[in-house]
Amino acid sequence: MLRTIAAAVPPTKRRPVLSSDAPATRWRNSIRLRAPVRGTIRPMSLNENARIDTSQVTDRRGRGGGFGRLPIPTGRGGIVGTIITLGLLILGGVTGVNVLGDGGGDGQLAETCSTANPDRLELSECRNVLYINSIQDYWQEGMPDLAGEPYQETDTVFFSQVVDTGCGTADSGVGPFYCPLDGLVYIDLTFYDELARRFGAEGEFAQPYVLAHEYGHHVQNLLGTSQQVRDAQQQDPANANEYSVLLELQADCYAGVWAHHAATTTDEAGQRIFTSVTQEDIDQALDAAAAIGDDVIQRRSGGPIDESNFTHGTAEQRKGWFTRGYDTGDPRECDTFAP
Ligand SMILES: [Zn+2]
Repeated sequence: MLRTIAAAVPPTKRRPVLSSDAPATRWRNSIRLRAPVRGTIRPMSLNENARIDTSQVTDRRGRGGGFGRLPIPTGRGGIVGTIITLGLLILGGVTGVNVLGDGGGDGQLAETCSTANPDRLELSECRNVLYINSIQDYWQEGMPDLAGEPYQETDTVFFSQVVDTGCGTADSGVGPFYCPLDGLVYIDLTFYDELARRFGAEGEFAQPYVLAHEYGHHVQNLLGTSQQVRDAQQQDPANANEYSVLLELQADCYAGVWAHHAATTTDEAGQRIFTSVTQEDIDQALDAAAAIGDDVIQRRSGGPIDESNFTHGTAEQRKGWFTRGYDTGDPRECDTFAP
């Protein structure tokens, strides 16, 4: 895990070189995201009247002048690196300074996703905000049930290409991740395009699965589970990867728990966010979980399967723990650490 983290957070906190091979047009195109191409979007399962609370998202896409001309980093293993570190829980890391700020764009997102825009559910960015609303609405009740403590909401940061975080600077190549040091979820929404096109996980429900997994890490952080795992890894570095797998599988299970309750989650006005969550949706989440299993990724990369390098669990394990969470709807059933 630590090796992966070292690979994910470059030693240099700032990328000093601006490149001319990332034309501004590409940057602009990436701001207004389009959903995956192959027609699996079914916004009809979302309540068209639901209010989208964009205050739970910090929009840092397309910020900071010169940053817009940074190249898309490709030097660390390309797609394999991207998927291997999906859901990466960055531990340790350097303290970063947010030079991009968080003001400015949120108002635009609020406008884009307001009920005044009849097409808002056709926009990936608005649907993702709604998924985040649903996930956090569930944990408002799920966390007190689980731990007797209130849930603390946290933002997801939408970014393009590169972002400064409390865990250091990260680029899109690391995939979506949670930073325990600043308690924020980070995602470049173009990640879903790669998940769909290159790994075949093109179902829409892959998206809330990914987000619910990351919010699972937030819950682990609030509960102190992540810290306990970090301590255990330091005391027992030979098994650090196994601890990582247990933490990741628990996040998958928490994602399944959310999926169980998703159909009853509501917006601020008490309106249901989903009109239905079907078996087809769940299958799409399972497809995504399988597509990013360590064994599947290793097989795709052409190398031998080496379990000692697993950090997130096999496809079967990931599907299994998601299913356990989904079937029971009880986060107490997600004790991957039980002997
Ligand atoms: Zn994860």
